[in-house]
Amino acid sequence: MSLRHPVVTRFAPTPSGELHVGHVFAAWRARQLADAHGGLCMLRIEDIDRERTRDPRWLASIYEDMQWLGIRFDGEVMVQSRRMGEYAAALEKLRRLGVLYPCFCSRADIRAEWAEMPRAPHAVRRMHYGGHCRGLSADQVAELMASGAPYAWRINMQYVEDMIGCPLWEDLRLGVRRCVPSECEDAVLARKDTPTSYHLAVVVDDAAQRVSLVTRGADLIECTPLQRALQVVLGLPMPLYAHHTLLRDASGKRLAKRDQACSVRSLRARGVSAQHVLTSVQRAVEQGGQWSGC
Ligand code: GLU
Ligand code: ZN
Repeated sequence: MSLRHPVVTRFAPTPSGELHVGHVFAAWRARQLADAHGGLCMLRIEDIDRERTRDPRWLASIYEDMQWLGIRFDGEVMVQSRRMGEYAAALEKLRRLGVLYPCFCSRADIRAEWAEMPRAPHAVRRMHYGGHCRGLSADQVAELMASGAPYAWRINMQYVEDMIGCPLWEDLRLGVRRCVPSECEDAVLARKDTPTSYHLAVVVDDAAQRVSLVTRGADLIECTPLQRALQVVLGLPMPLYAHHTLLRDASGKRLAKRDQACSVRSLRARGVSAQHVLTSVQRAVEQGGQWSGC
């Protein structure tokens, strides 16, 4: 496998809080990898979860803080909330291929699973879906649908494996990996009110933005096999991956949005310069991701 040219990387933040130094690293890394190959670095706003991204100040801070840091992006910004038609079309394609099944499990269960995506794949696995609705007969499905029972669309990963086998994917740092679809969760790909989940939107959008090198945090590695399988089923090109280290504090804990001291806004307010933020982030990376502040 080799890097497809032109090299196109991306920074895909979810505007669900202030931008923090972990984001700065992700953006800087995406830009750096693009520049190293004379390529492009795209920006994508991942705002399909309208509840989590409701405060417009968070979106504004992405643009403002990136400009302040001097990290620029190429081409047009892609905004997921404006692309529901594209996701609905991809979902329909999957439905026609027969890889989806309706899940009538309680809304609360599904909402909890949904809220954990993509940030906590471990949590999703812990709540592993028992596959209850995978075994419903056509008659049972028809009856439930006729009764108006709400449902979500799940992907049948065993069926996907029968269809595509076990495709490979490659990470620049980790090397070649094999995706075993049947080991992935039968993830929810759409709900009644939202025609896409994180997984489907990422795959559709990486292809639409012609991303050839997916740059993102190592916390999302567990999502990659499922997304790789989706690419194959949908006939989309295969990108390479560059999952990067996550920044951690002195106690080894991952920096999170709630650590206010690490938000770009608060660093700016304290008079820290953009150059100093970037240098500190680079230093943290050289020290295996350990962040010691600006
Ligand atoms: N929007 C996701 C986040 O902010 C990143 C998704 C991805 O890079 O695939 O964590
Ligand atoms: Zn179910």
